[in-house]
Amino acid sequence: MIELYHIWKQYQKPNWALNDITFKAQKGDFYFVTGPSGSGKTTLLNIISRGILPTQGQIIIDGKNIQRIPDHKIYQIRRIMGIVFQDFRLLFHKKVFNNVALVLEVLGTPKKEIKRRVYNALKMVNLQDKMYSYPAHLSYGEQQRVAIARAVVNNPKIILADEPTGNLDPELAFEIMSLFNEINKQGSTVIICTHDRELIRHFGNKILFLYKGKLLREEFF
Ligand code: ADP
Ligand code: MG
Repeated sequence: MIELYHIWKQYQKPNWALNDITFKAQKGDFYFVTGPSGSGKTTLLNIISRGILPTQGQIIIDGKNIQRIPDHKIYQIRRIMGIVFQDFRLLFHKKVFNNVALVLEVLGTPKKEIKRRVYNALKMVNLQDKMYSYPAHLSYGEQQRVAIARAVVNNPKIILADEPTGNLDPELAFEIMSLFNEINKQGSTVIICTHDRELIRHFGNKILFLYKGKLLREEFF
């Protein structure tokens, strides 16, 4: 589902944010990417989502070489991906419902179907009662869950999440991670960046350890 071959990324000379990363995630895999701050986790996710291009190397997503896809066709990759950004990126002038619906609207999904799917996604994160609230009126953890509902509403083949439990209390972090686990069981390939060792210990079955841009090792449990 996700194949990276000898990925190098340099923002500024002489440092390499990613240094020769090769790895494959199969359909249905659940991976944690971990490592200290600055080790390249976010860069790796951004490369997989084609938010940025690598300096060198090949990325194949769902059988397609994504570097060859021109910018105006990026939506072709994005529609099979749900992304939970570290800073959520919710639209504060839109209600929760409309934040989650947006992806489906862009894809031209019929209104009735949008309603059904948005409701189900919000129900999954237990926010169906806040559907018509504005994000500003929600707690941090609730905003986080809206971001997750938005990422999964399109039933994507791939879910990418960057520190989705950063700044949450342990119980809520646990709950959110259980959600990702649930989504993964429904068949999505999930990749989560985190440095929360407790969560990794509990939920991790495949782990990539990054250090200074290098893939130190892969562990499977
Ligand atoms: P992590 O998510 O593990 O904290 P990042 O991928 O954000 O790591 O960063 C990896 C390295 O790349 C760091 O040294 C960081 O300073 C550098 N870096 C990340 N983004 C940029 C950028 N936009 N411009 C320049 N350097 C960057
Ligand atoms: Mg990061």
